[in-house]
Amino acid sequence: MAHEALAQAFTQHFGNAPTVKVSAPGRVNLIGEHTDYNEGFVLPCALQFKTLIVAKPREDTIINAFSLQYPEAIEQFDIAEPINPGLYPWGDYLRGVVKELMDAGAPLTGMDIAISSDVPQGSGLSSSAALEVAVGGLFNFSCNLGLTGAQIARTGQLAENNFIDCQCGIMDQLISAEAQFHSALLIDCMDLSTRAVAIPDDLALLVINSNYPRKLADSDYNERRLACEQAAKVMGKSSLRHATLDELNAVKKELSDTVFRRAKHVITENDRVLQAANALAQNELDRLYAIMHEAHLSLKYDFEITVPATDGLVDICMNALAGKGACRQTGGGFGGAVICLCAKHDVQRVINAVNNEYEPRFKLHPDIMLCEPHQGLCVGLF
Ligand code: ADP
Ligand code: MG
Repeated sequence: MAHEALAQAFTQHFGNAPTVKVSAPGRVNLIGEHTDYNEGFVLPCALQFKTLIVAKPREDTIINAFSLQYPEAIEQFDIAEPINPGLYPWGDYLRGVVKELMDAGAPLTGMDIAISSDVPQGSGLSSSAALEVAVGGLFNFSCNLGLTGAQIARTGQLAENNFIDCQCGIMDQLISAEAQFHSALLIDCMDLSTRAVAIPDDLALLVINSNYPRKLADSDYNERRLACEQAAKVMGKSSLRHATLDELNAVKKELSDTVFRRAKHVITENDRVLQAANALAQNELDRLYAIMHEAHLSLKYDFEITVPATDGLVDICMNALAGKGACRQTGGGFGGAVICLCAKHDVQRVINAVNNEYEPRFKLHPDIMLCEPHQGLCVGLF
């Protein structure tokens, strides 16, 4: 859907025309898993799937909002009152961002808001971050807050941490806020500095959601975080970002085998992200593919966050490509999606293999999404 069509829905609902339009994309992470909360490196890429908002500031303090994806759940709240979770789960992403802005002292006004998105929800493309960044971008523009992309991203992350109670890092919001056209973004999660890395025209990005039902993902995630903290502490480091493999090996006897492997993944993954960014920048795709494959094996054997369904997808794609591409678990794991990189002319071969082999083997239907790198947050007047 384009902004114009959403504007029609806005006018039908509110009786006048919107004045502001916003778009913020979903994302996929090319490489760098479980590194963000260890102050490490990630390399995500924003996609053509976007969350659109059209809006009009109000003279009062009321926020009215609807999403075409939740037409029955119309949001309304007053920013002059304490902001609490509302009736509708989707609306809490809006409330959370508004509350974080208010708590930071931003001079917000009321707003009429219409939302529509083609970012698939819960498919590993971070529809929640796209929504948060779109809302943050809207108020930043309309109320002249003067926030940077990184500040908008941080607001979205805080909303998710404090209001939604999801302890995510900042990657998803930062790439949605700051992505440049046709580039991945190397993010240093220690200081949030970024470097755009151009994606070669011929490189295809295929995201395949396993649709494996996630179970116990939160407790597993917390266990991984604790293991990383523990290993860093034994080495006398504030985070694993500051540790080398030699330093880890030196304390091997003081760590359980599991904690050792968790830390090994993070330390080696940071190195892989930097190498992958260089390989991409130099268009050395065979080197990129090799690094991606190593990254998957590290997640499978050391960090242990893959499941048979995602390992199976990786095997199916790797076999179809016969060395001419790579596939790895992307996102937090315990199900979720894999990302496959290959030349555009090899894409159909991969899709056919997944369509033929995955469902019979795992009794799950895969969602195959051919992705394009796109730019981040855009805000302007109609
Ligand atoms: P994801 O991996 O896609 O970010 P999450 O569970 O973190 O999955 O976020 C999905 C939630 O975000 C949805 O359940 C909904 O509450 C909210 N959301 C995402 N997109 C929209 C939208 N277009 N309109 C309203 N709410 C949305
Ligand atoms: Mg999310």
